Amino acid sequence: MEETIFDKILAGEIPADIVYEDEAVIAFRDINPQAPTHVLVVPRTRMRSIADAPGKDIKTLGQFVQGIARTATALGLDDRGYRVVFNTGPDALQTVEYVHAHILGGRKMSWPPG
Ligand code: AMP
Repeated sequence: MEETIFDKILAGEIPADIVYEDEAVIAFRDINPQAPTHVLVVPRTRMRSIADAPGKDIKTLGQFVQGIARTATALGLDDRGYRVVFNTGPDALQTVEYVHAHILGGRKMSWPPG
């Protein structure tokens, strides 16, 4: 798989505004925020998108999901709530081919999403 910008952030080769990290994930602020709080959670184990999840071990996937929840807690979003988005493939406008969860919060969301 081709190296992505998120591989470089994980390797410490380019800077990021990191808000949470643990053994399984790193979470940093999106450079083009779509909400008052907009953070990306990236697992240290590479996957192209969430569509690769069936081929991954349950521990890796579980730690990724726990990392998303722990990031939201660290951001103080638990009381008001937040949205988690996995853009997957061209119809969803996925632009970085390294799986990432968007955490969006700090404002009332609308539904359906655009
Ligand atoms: P997606 O469209 O779901 O693939 O989302 C990729 C996200 O990565 C976009 O919201 C971009 O704004 C964000 N992004 C791209 N480069 C960086 C970067 N260097 N640091 C933080 N966020 C980034």
